[in-house]
Amino acid sequence: MKRVYLKKGREKPLLNRHPWIFSGAIAKRDSGIEDGRIVEVVDYRGGILGSGYYNSATQISVRMLSFGPGQVDREYLARLMSQANKRREEIGIPNATSAYRLIFSEGDFFPGLIVDQYGDHLVVQLLTLGIELLRDEITELLKELFKPQSIYERSEHSGRALEGLAPRSGQIDGLTPDDIIFNEGEMRFHVDVKNGQKTGFYLDQRDNRRLVRGISRGKKMLNLFSYTGGFSVAALNGGAQSVISVDSSIQAHEMAKRNAALNGAGEAMHCIHADAFDYLRGNTIDSNLIVIDPPAFVKSREDVQRACRGYKDINLQAAAKCPQDTLLLTCSCSRFIDMGLFQKVVFSAMADAGRNATILNKSHHAPDHPVSVFAPETEYLKSLLLHVE
Ligand code: SAH
Repeated sequence: MKRVYLKKGREKPLLNRHPWIFSGAIAKRDSGIEDGRIVEVVDYRGGILGSGYYNSATQISVRMLSFGPGQVDREYLARLMSQANKRREEIGIPNATSAYRLIFSEGDFFPGLIVDQYGDHLVVQLLTLGIELLRDEITELLKELFKPQSIYERSEHSGRALEGLAPRSGQIDGLTPDDIIFNEGEMRFHVDVKNGQKTGFYLDQRDNRRLVRGISRGKKMLNLFSYTGGFSVAALNGGAQSVISVDSSIQAHEMAKRNAALNGAGEAMHCIHADAFDYLRGNTIDSNLIVIDPPAFVKSREDVQRACRGYKDINLQAAAKCPQDTLLLTCSCSRFIDMGLFQKVVFSAMADAGRNATILNKSHHAPDHPVSVFAPETEYLKSLLLHVE
């Protein structure tokens, strides 16, 4: 196997099972390594550190699939998948919901691969060239291990362009229905895995949906960036008096309405097709339960300042206008903003709004989105539940 040699002293992160090797850590490499192929990574003395796939076009030159000696073969990949499945089973996820993330990239030591399960159907996202080249093997293994009725591909992540890959989506195996219904606790949801955002549903917010469900009795809810109504349904299911869902996507509202109806609460939800910032500016707010779950405002480190202004603005507007004793669940899914920074942004929003606020709960993505302790920077979703006096 072709080798990549690290500079002296740059082996430390790998010994600590960090999955990324940046180009600056590489001393030399064997000639003729094709982008996307699996290489053996060795330290400056030639000691084997592990194997990963190489790409000369990306900032991260190697993403590690295994550590120490040993082949990354079919058997090894099968073991990664089985381990991922076991992690979910250990904590009862398949009993709690029929839709969950089965494989979460670095979090399951399988960088570049995301597999979501919706009932008996799998939806995959291949994020990198290295994983793209393993596509057939991965598909075969998924069929063999999980025996799904169908596998659908939604590899449209913007990061694929940096990998030299065009977006791709379509049927890989079997026949995926246009409409899948899944259960999450007491709730049911429609999902369109072929046309929805990402793989169709924000599975990562499951624990926050449960949180919202538990605090919504009798509340008037405002769900900003509501998409297909995950939080709206959770609130209605938990006994909310009324829900206003605001999103800029008409298709998302269509689905949100179907989801509210599926849960027997179509009448209590009102959908507003608008920009969430404009909505807050232009309306009186009498909702005493507000969810703010915007898209990632930041796609790179350079955008962090601008993104913080966005987060501050939306939280400031909401806090300035909401009635006394409002519960505000505010979220950020930007990878480059950590909980500490997010909390500072929320602090300055509350301060400028002149409102007293306390943090009642802090949360992250649901546990079917595990975080490797060796790669904490792959954590991305942060949420604060505030009581605004
Ligand atoms: N809270 C949702 C997920 C939100 S994803 C859930 O739990 O399912 C972000 C959503 O914000 C998308 O549906 C997108 O259409 C919407 N969106 C993006 N920019 C917006 C804006 N400026 N105003 C309103 N909605 C916006």
